[in-house]
Amino acid sequence: MDELLTVFKELLISYCTKNNVNILPVEIIIGNIYDKRLELAKTLGEQTSIINNREVIANFNGTIKVYNNKNHIIILNENLFFDKTNKMSVDEVLLKNKFQYIQTFIHEYVHILDIIEFAKHFNVNIEDVEKIPEYKSFYYWTEFHAHAESYKFYKEYLLNMVSISQSEILEHIINVEKPYHEKDIKLNGFDSLYNAIEYLKYYIVWETLYNLHFELPNKLLKYKEFYNLYNANQNFDNYANNINIFNIIIQKLK
Ligand SMILES: [Zn+2]
Repeated sequence: MDELLTVFKELLISYCTKNNVNILPVEIIIGNIYDKRLELAKTLGEQTSIINNREVIANFNGTIKVYNNKNHIIILNENLFFDKTNKMSVDEVLLKNKFQYIQTFIHEYVHILDIIEFAKHFNVNIEDVEKIPEYKSFYYWTEFHAHAESYKFYKEYLLNMVSISQSEILEHIINVEKPYHEKDIKLNGFDSLYNAIEYLKYYIVWETLYNLHFELPNKLLKYKEFYNLYNANQNFDNYANNINIFNIIIQKLK
């Protein structure tokens, strides 16, 4: 377990250094998400909501608790890492996870950074951000941000480990990744806008990182306005300047 935690601490430093963002004090827990969330819930309302959504929460890859004046917490789902036999080395465990843990972990960390900025912007206590009316649309901005940032970092991080040319990367995106993801698009979950973001992130990253401009596939066309708005506002300050426009566009999609 300690070895795994070291991997995450190194990832955290690598992400923060590369992106010039704060290295925040974070406690990383690899465990049962549902149990941990329930343990950390402070109010009866929070506990009830966790109990009522048990199945959904238990299957999260990761989740966070953000605090005012103590270490933030990132909880990662133990099912992503551990096999029942417990006979695998850390390297084998991470390989089995196909490096998805990089995206899960960075995704949660980006949420922490965003929530802190959001609380500062509205001058409210971090633990009360969900009470602000704007939180409803902020939620989708930070989801887009967390998905895109973590996928971008994952791509760059893995490509650093292997020697592969720029033209090979582009060819792989065009011939393998794009058809693969487009075939996979499903928007029928409990929150179709959230589902759409899981796919929109690829187009943003292919555009931002590799200058590849693709038309959105038919199934995602409905989200084009949101995509373009996010594309033009990929950091918190830009978002903060355009909160009203985000509110209007996200409202239409909900
Ligand atoms: Zn998220």
